[in-house]
Amino acid sequence: MGCSLDKFGRTTSQTHYTLTQEFFNRLLDKGYVYKANYKQQYCSKCNRFLPDRYIQGTCPRCGGEKARGDACEVCGSYLKPSELKDPYCVSCRTKPEIRETTHWFFKLSVFQTFLKEWISNNEELSPNVKNYASQWLKGDLNDWCITRDLSWGVPVPLEEADGKVIYVWFDAPIGYLSSTVDWAESSGDKEKWKSFWKEDEGRMIHFIGKDIIYHHAIFWPALLKAHGGYNLPHKIIAGEYLTLERKKMSKSRGWVINVDEYLKKYDPDPLRYYLIVVSPLNKDADFSWDEYIRRNNDELADILGNFIHRSLIFTSRFFNEKIPKPGKIKENDKEILQAIKKTKKEVGDLIESCDFHRALRKIIELAAVGNRYLNNKEPWKTIKKDPENAATTLYLADQIVKSISILLEPFLPFSAEKIWTFLNLSDSVHNQKWKDIEKPVPPNHAINVSTPIFKKINLDQINEKR
Ligand SMILES: [Zn+2]
Ligand SMILES: [Zn+2]
Repeated sequence: MGCSLDKFGRTTSQTHYTLTQEFFNRLLDKGYVYKANYKQQYCSKCNRFLPDRYIQGTCPRCGGEKARGDACEVCGSYLKPSELKDPYCVSCRTKPEIRETTHWFFKLSVFQTFLKEWISNNEELSPNVKNYASQWLKGDLNDWCITRDLSWGVPVPLEEADGKVIYVWFDAPIGYLSSTVDWAESSGDKEKWKSFWKEDEGRMIHFIGKDIIYHHAIFWPALLKAHGGYNLPHKIIAGEYLTLERKKMSKSRGWVINVDEYLKKYDPDPLRYYLIVVSPLNKDADFSWDEYIRRNNDELADILGNFIHRSLIFTSRFFNEKIPKPGKIKENDKEILQAIKKTKKEVGDLIESCDFHRALRKIIELAAVGNRYLNNKEPWKTIKKDPENAATTLYLADQIVKSISILLEPFLPFSAEKIWTFLNLSDSVHNQKWKDIEKPVPPNHAINVSTPIFKKINLDQINEKR
């Protein structure tokens, strides 16, 4: 799909263990972590305390079955294992017994006022994150048990805590920090992680699913505040669910489209386009084949692809495969240059605010402006009577094509590169700078022969696949 990662980190790295233990000790020293006895579910048959996800039972809030020890998928409630009705061990189905054990707790309750202010005054949190977190903060926050009796995980760095590890949701977000440190280390500039976590202008943007808003908007900022010295998240964007033909996707029921299967038959960009355009990130979205075809055919092929193809084909045909030299730029021609400038600014701002869906729509609108311009100016007619006019028209249309190539690069990288190649420009579109969007392709520059960028898909093709 053309996605790549600067760093793929795991919470099993040595850096992660060290930082997590340092974090824990610091909170303990500052008095934000305390020891207490805790009742936990113990399976006498498996001979162990059960991790939250190894206990299932009936949800005390909605009566839903198979609620896990930490959450109910039916009503979305966050739960404690001791709250479950009729609990049983997932491994052996035995009813667990409650046994007392010693654990360490984080004083989350101390941060209630801080969190309320941080969330209500924060314009950078997406509305669904804000609403969800505010709901939580209406009630009193409870302290969090942050250790477990388990054999895997980061060991609690205290002698008296032999055999105990740190709870995954305490150390998972620390993984963001440790993987930034590891990334800096492997890039050859050890100190680079500080530009995100320490410096005033450092920005951390979390892209998460909506089921873990609690951990990112409440728990993690409180941990960072307690520790001190690190930046808080700058933005939290929580994606909602994606359904397939209006039904929940499920691997086990086969109701799913695997990306590798998709790629055997279709290009990555139409799917990238679809997912960006239909998912505004704060609303549920649906994938349907009919809608996929409609978007591909009506928007990508008919608006974007058609504009680019027409501009380049007429340029080739009428001007010997060279960008024409423009004549006098009149008022209605100037509008084209203004449209490029305006779109560059708008798309840039929308990317900054992570509003990718509107940003991509702006680029399609620019192609629509180009199509209308060609239709009004009709260079295929004026080429005989007024070739200078046709030259101006196609010169400007080609400038839109060039700007679209750079604008499109973050969204549809394969198509952007194709356009760049048709224009016969040096280097790759992936290495261009945003400021170069307005830089014109000069007259007499030779271009390559172009082909349509987006293939139309017909329904029969899809039905067979379905
Ligand atoms: Zn429930
Ligand atoms: Zn068991």
